[in-house]
Amino acid sequence: MEAARAAQPRWAGLSGLERGKYLFRVARLIQERARELAVVESMDGGKPVRESRDVDVPLAAAHFFHYAGWADKLSYGVGGREVAPLGVAAQIVPWNFPLLMAAWKLAPALACGNTAVLKPAETTPLTALLLAEICQEAELPEGVVSIIPGDGSTGATLVREPDIDKVAFTGSTSVGKDIQAALAGRGVSLTLELGGKSANVVFEDAALDQAVEGIVNGIFFNQGHVCCAGSRLLIQESVADVVVGKLWERMGRLRVGDPLDKNTDVGAINSREQLERIEELVDAGEGEGAQRRTVACELPDRGFWYAPTIFTEVAPAHRIAVEEIFGPVVSVLTFRTQAEAIDKANNSAYGLAAGIWTDKGAKAFEVASALQAGVVWQNTYNHFDPSAAFGGYKESGFGREGGPAGLRPYLRIA
Ligand code: NAD
Ligand code: MN
Repeated sequence: MEAARAAQPRWAGLSGLERGKYLFRVARLIQERARELAVVESMDGGKPVRESRDVDVPLAAAHFFHYAGWADKLSYGVGGREVAPLGVAAQIVPWNFPLLMAAWKLAPALACGNTAVLKPAETTPLTALLLAEICQEAELPEGVVSIIPGDGSTGATLVREPDIDKVAFTGSTSVGKDIQAALAGRGVSLTLELGGKSANVVFEDAALDQAVEGIVNGIFFNQGHVCCAGSRLLIQESVADVVVGKLWERMGRLRVGDPLDKNTDVGAINSREQLERIEELVDAGEGEGAQRRTVACELPDRGFWYAPTIFTEVAPAHRIAVEEIFGPVVSVLTFRTQAEAIDKANNSAYGLAAGIWTDKGAKAFEVASALQAGVVWQNTYNHFDPSAAFGGYKESGFGREGGPAGLRPYLRIA
């Protein structure tokens, strides 16, 4: 904390152009070390290497490129007003996108002239440590970025440090609430990116085969360890049987297993703790009367695995329709009218993301404007871009990451 505090005035005193050069250098070094980062990410956390290689690592670099470009244009990003950095940012990230979440946190903080102390998750610290090495290679001044591995108690200590100006947290809603309570009344700026139970809404006029691919990507990408996963699948009644049939058939073709095999679609569950959480919720789903179907496939002997699973006959009050499972498990509900689809989609304590599948542009816009979700995808899902703001409504948190909106949480705006 002392190093971060000491380094901050000089870092903020550099011209935006100079800070941008450092961020460009970090972005380029991520690209140069992309293979290494992808393999380490998959070995550490269990996600398929095809995803680390094609999604996590390129997007992490893209975030640094994007915010490198903002560093000398900060006031343009906030409507021409005068800006100043907040100071020292404490940042805590989860285990589902370890490198990418570190990039989402560090790039805007640094571009805005803050210094940062970042804590990776206890099960996935390795790529954040490689990123620390990359910061050294980029000759970032001492103290601008500090990476402190540790578990929840380290995180709890970090957010209670007296000398911080900003906390940015991504993780569970319960820890988010704990952090918010700890910071109450202290004048520390806070952004929270928490859980979700996002609705993926399929209308009868959608291109159904394309929708099925989007449903699969929405819930089985990264084993469903995705805060914006399309875990509540809402299908219009007239096409529900057809869509579920196609989906089940497609699920049978997913390859589950070795994360380092480039053909793997669904890798390992991140930890025993997470596997137990998935199993508990799946048991609850069956106990409450929903119909479970799990793909029959061979799973490796060592490690933690969960085969792709679909629940039908789900009632809105079932735990599997309400709580975040954070695994490869999708809960199917049906609706008859557009109004009912909107009601059901919004019937959640969360509001992180949503998907809409329809051929009708006007319908997509109408439904999207009625949904309480930070991100709404139309005829796609889990599509990320550094220029697009990401963040939640309700218990999914507040504050935005990405694009010019992602500058605001790191600036004092006059
Ligand atoms: P978590 O919220 O406990 O962990 C996220 C990060 O917060 C980790 O770095 C952890 O060390 C840290 N942390 C834990 N307790 C803390 C505390 N009291 N103060 C400060 N930092 C603390 O998440 P989890 O226990 O690993 O997962 C639980 C559930 O949370 C998952 O099943 C999932 O539903 C949800 N989750 C959501 C996201 C997301 O991207 N929104 C990410 C991870 C987990
Ligand atoms: Mn926890």
